[in-house]
Amino acid sequence: MPARSYEVEAIVLDTRDHGEADLIVTFFSLERGRATGIAKGAKRSKRRFVNKLEIFSFLRLTCSESAGGGLVFIHEADLHTPFLRLRTDPSRYATASVIRESLLLALREGERDETVFRLALWALHGLDAGRSRQSLLVLYLLRFYSAIGYRPGLEACLSCGIEASPGRGFAFSHLGGGLVCATCAAASGHPGTRLSPGTIRLMQSALELPLDKLHRLQLTDAMHRECLTALHLYGRHLFQRDIHSWAMLDSFSDQGGSTAKPVQI
Ligand SMILES: [Zn+2]
Repeated sequence: MPARSYEVEAIVLDTRDHGEADLIVTFFSLERGRATGIAKGAKRSKRRFVNKLEIFSFLRLTCSESAGGGLVFIHEADLHTPFLRLRTDPSRYATASVIRESLLLALREGERDETVFRLALWALHGLDAGRSRQSLLVLYLLRFYSAIGYRPGLEACLSCGIEASPGRGFAFSHLGGGLVCATCAAASGHPGTRLSPGTIRLMQSALELPLDKLHRLQLTDAMHRECLTALHLYGRHLFQRDIHSWAMLDSFSDQGGSTAKPVQI
């Protein structure tokens, strides 16, 4: 075992071949945040790495720093959960890919973020277990934007401050990152994404509930549509580029996959 080795709990975000035998792996670890490592001989070593260093896998890695401080060396991998279904079911693969891409866009090397780590793991577990993938993506993205410092403003109109209450029309402004009332939306010339009162309540609850109770929120198909449109546009605005995996997701939009019942909050 090399000197100064350490262990981390990690989610694999990306892999690519390096030469004949090695694999370059980008991962997100609980203890040290995002990092990129090289697994020497990974394509040859059946015992140590095969079927472990795969995208989405949740595992424990034994690593050590390289002398230059760039790539870390990955020495061992012990699989916790392969999340196999995410790689074999195309619609779940598409949803997990949006999650993966959001992490790659937001996380910087070496920046630890336990909230985002646990949230990502929660979402991948739920997807693998067969929960509604649209609901999971809505809940994940709301909490994710919040965790990285862009909590959507859902209490009142961003512009005039009028409280979000049923009976008034509200939309989500991806430019402002929150609600705007119909009057302000019309005045600004940016209509935003119209949200029903039930959708707004759902989104508010999604930001408040503890992570282990988040799965209790159930969304209707109409809520999925409203939320995913708003959250997609908001992400595109925050990252200043599209989330490319979303195109893959759109190809499954007619197939449902949701067993959502009316919302109960
Ligand atoms: Zn207003």
